[in-house]
Amino acid sequence: MSNESQLKVENVSKSYATAADSLRVLDGVSLDLTAGESLAIVGPSGSGKSTLLHILGTLDHPDQGSVHIDGQDPFQLSPKQLAAFRNEHIGFVFQDHHLLPQLTVIENVLIPALAHGKPKSESFVRAEHLLHSVGLSDRIGHLPSELSGGERERVAIARALVMQPSLILADEPTGNLDRRTADAVTELLLSLQSESGVILIAVTHSETLAAALQQRRELQDGRLL
Ligand code: ADP
Ligand code: MG
Repeated sequence: MSNESQLKVENVSKSYATAADSLRVLDGVSLDLTAGESLAIVGPSGSGKSTLLHILGTLDHPDQGSVHIDGQDPFQLSPKQLAAFRNEHIGFVFQDHHLLPQLTVIENVLIPALAHGKPKSESFVRAEHLLHSVGLSDRIGHLPSELSGGERERVAIARALVMQPSLILADEPTGNLDRRTADAVTELLLSLQSESGVILIAVTHSETLAAALQQRRELQDGRLL
């Protein structure tokens, strides 16, 4: 599946209405990535990085331009189809990781698999394997509150990969971590990415993370340089 991973973004623009007029946040952004490729998006605060990531994650739609993921235009889908598409094709790793506090580590990793009904036994096997890969085999029954920040981020990475998505979107994945932990999480994310052939796009202020990805583009005034 991942061998066919493809992301094509053409001329995407997005504006927000403000009291005075409209604010153009993205201005003709284009991108073309295939399986195994990785891209760091850098840029000052307010330059539109999160807006772009939300559009790529199909959580928000562009005003103009098009997005194709694995050959499909997700914005042509019905809301229900879109939710299923997002769940199958896209994994999210956000800075504040959004783990559910009442669920154990393995239950959190299985959340995306739950959207399809009861998780299949192969989902459990895959979740266990991923938790092993991120070094948390002995923590699968723990609650998020019993983990460190770096460990929680590793749970979020395992959760993002459990559905074998084509695309992983990370918004400041190491932003809340100390330097050493951040480096370890970066290394882990990249080794899992190269193993699985998933496309990785990370928004980051970290030069270490940006340098570790294959490509680096800067967002400035809504344009991707
Ligand atoms: P970044 O992630 O690069 O810091 P964002 O994509 O979050 O930037 O925001 C880009 C600009 O769009 C900012 O000026 C922000 O205030 C504005 N913005 C973001 N979301 C909205 C919204 N829902 N309504 C109005 N303005 C928004
Ligand atoms: Mg942001």
